Parts: sequence; structure tokens; C-alpha cells
Amino acid sequence: MLRHALVLFSAGQDSATCLAWALQRFERVETIGFFYGQRHAVELDQRPVLRSQIGALCGPDRLGEDHVVDISGYGAIAESALTADRAIEMAATGLPTTFVPGRNLVFFTVAAALAYRRGVDVLVGGMCETDFSGYPDCRQDTIDAMARTLSLGLDRPITIETPLMKLTKAQTWSLARDLGGHALVDAIVEHSHTCYRGDREHLHVWGYGCGVCPACELRAKGWEAWRRSATA
Ligand code: ZN
Repeated sequence: MLRHALVLFSAGQDSATCLAWALQRFERVETIGFFYGQRHAVELDQRPVLRSQIGALCGPDRLGEDHVVDISGYGAIAESALTADRAIEMAATGLPTTFVPGRNLVFFTVAAALAYRRGVDVLVGGMCETDFSGYPDCRQDTIDAMARTLSLGLDRPITIETPLMKLTKAQTWSLARDLGGHALVDAIVEHSHTCYRGDREHLHVWGYGCGVCPACELRAKGWEAWRRSATA
């Protein structure tokens, strides 16, 4: 039986690929995004543009509603470089200050509450262990424990799918190409947003961004590695 899925969709490269992936597997796919006090509205602005493009390419009859949830109260608690005017630098903990404590746990909890109301039992997120940022809430162990906690707490089986968990950024581009061809790759390049600084002025072959922040560096490296590989 085909099921319904709710994709955590931030308009970044990863969640864009997850949306395309979900559209090929589930009979109905809804999306959820979060306003948590981001310094830049860019990703929220890009969401509807990118979402409709991916829907048109990968499953126009399967793409359901979009939900944007305001959790800025949480953002105020979890203040870090992305939510306050602080320098993006490595903190003494060894984690980048872009780490927002517990962010994915809150995202999944809110997403699960929405999913429960809408009869959806699969959550899809772009968490990835291999991007070297070391975010503890992106690890498979955390996701497995979260799925179990949500299933117990809601008394309903909740599955969390993380199709990018073991992929490198280059492999994520390759997956996008497999899912939607070069048209999907082009849509993700042009309309997804990754840059921590919210730069939409400078267009590179891998997309818009400042080109120097850690998110841009990771995206540029992934793109170059994919273009050099046999799968490009
Ligand atoms: Zn950047």
C-alpha cells in the first residue's frame, strides 16, 4: 500500500532532493517548513518557487499541501549564529556555532503533530551523517530513537525516512539527476538555497551563495566532486 508522506522542506539542496525522492514513492506528499527566527527570509521565499518546480517535474498529481509553522519561540531559546547576529565560527564545543541545539528534534516533533492530524505516517528529512558538520541530531541513532519516541508518544507508528543519510553531497546531486534528470538538477541549482549568509546575488555553477561560508564551501565541493565523477 502506498502511503502518505510529509517532507521537511527548507528549500535547501538536501530537502529538495528528498521532496523529489518522496514524490516517486508515496501517493501523496505534503511539505512542512519552519520559521524559527532565521536571519534571512531567503529560504522561506524560495520554498514555493522550488516546491512547484519539483512538483511539476516529479509528481504534479502527488504534491499536496504546504505548511509553514512559526516556531520562533523555540528559535529564541536556541539562539545561535543562525538565529542571532553572531559570527559564524567554531565554538569551544567543536561544533560550528551554526548548530542550533535540538533543532531537528523540534522539527520532527512538530512535523509528527501535523502528520498525526493529517493521517500521514511517514516523515522525510534530509539529515546526513556524511557532511562532516558533526551535528548530533543528524545521526542515524538520533533519528531511529526519535522515530521510536514519536511512535510511542503518539501511539501510532511513525516512520522517519532519511534517504540522504549515507550519501556524500556529490552522491546527492547524482540522486537528483536519477530522480528528475538534468531538469531537476537545474531547478535545484537555480532555486534551492544553502548559503548561511542569505546571498542571492552571486550565481555560481552550483547555485546562488556568497561562496565562502561553510555551507557554500560544502555545496561547491560536492558539486565539483559530482562533476568530476562518472555519474555526472
Ligand atoms: Zn554562503
